Amino acid sequence: MTITDPTTTTTSALDAARAELRGRLLADGVLIDLGSPGLYGRTGVFERVYTAVDAAAVRSQADLDAEVLRFPPVEPLAAFERTDYIASFPDLAASISGFTGDDRTHRALLAARERGERWETFLEPADLMLTPAVCHPVYGLIGDTVPEGGRAFDIVGDSFRREPSLDPMRLQAFHMHEFVHVGTPESAKAHRDGRIPGMRALLESFGLAIDVVPANDPFFGRVGQILARNQVEQSLKYEFVSPVYGPDHDPTAISSANLHEDHFGTAFGLRTADGEVAHSACLAFGLERITIALFAAHGTDPDRWTSDVRAALAL
Ligand code: ATP
Ligand code: ZN
Ligand code: MG
Repeated sequence: MTITDPTTTTTSALDAARAELRGRLLADGVLIDLGSPGLYGRTGVFERVYTAVDAAAVRSQADLDAEVLRFPPVEPLAAFERTDYIASFPDLAASISGFTGDDRTHRALLAARERGERWETFLEPADLMLTPAVCHPVYGLIGDTVPEGGRAFDIVGDSFRREPSLDPMRLQAFHMHEFVHVGTPESAKAHRDGRIPGMRALLESFGLAIDVVPANDPFFGRVGQILARNQVEQSLKYEFVSPVYGPDHDPTAISSANLHEDHFGTAFGLRTADGEVAHSACLAFGLERITIALFAAHGTDPDRWTSDVRAALAL
């Protein structure tokens, strides 16, 4: 007797849908395969839409009058440590290594390479981590007191997460544009909740079907399952999801709105004017995911998108 497993069937249908979109983006010259899952080169048409998405995101948050900050794609190990990221997401973290050896070690490296062996084991950890979330470096720069009314930051940059995948929506190296608030529990929550409707309206104006749903981060391991459940129960994270792979599959998160409560305030010793531990929140636009969702929904030639969509993107 043959037993068909509905889960397997669904998964392979989803895999096929992902492969189809990935194949279309590559064949139509939107992305370039770099030979490692979740790493792509980007062409002019991708960049044109990506730039328009980012500009529209910035326009939508202009009233925040946020302080603009930009950071390199790597952060000092000491700063990374304070975020506690390694406790929750060891599987996504990645570090930089460098060669610090002498001539002899170099010869041993080259000999190993000659034998076809891995030579990266000759490199030493360099006290640098690839930044997994672009708001991380900001908390260490605030000093110990946040002024009355809090502070708002506009941060865009590279994120690296070690999650290789053939899903073109799941990259290893990507960018998010974050609008961060650090202040009181009330002001952090107001920042997050008050901006959700506008963010949703913006993404809908791009001609994307959007739902806003409670979500959790993929905390690692058994303890992580409890943390994830708490996060959903306390409504700390919402995702803006879009059915990129059609109505038969779970929609994909293209942006998120997160309340960190006192996580970063405690870790970085941040206090509000009245001496309480500061709270923080961030809105994160997933720039590649929004861009690819647009190509998936409207096709790979932006000149043929409807005038409404092009107007919303100022394309
Ligand atoms: P997911 O549950 O899909 O892994 P996430 O919860 O890890 O998403 P966040 O940490 O909230 O995502 O990151 C903010 C935004 O960055 C996401 O809403 C998404 O648009 C984008 N993003 C996250 N991970 C990736 C990735 N691997 N590739 C491309 N974009 C990503
Ligand atoms: Zn953030
Ligand atoms: Mg994730």
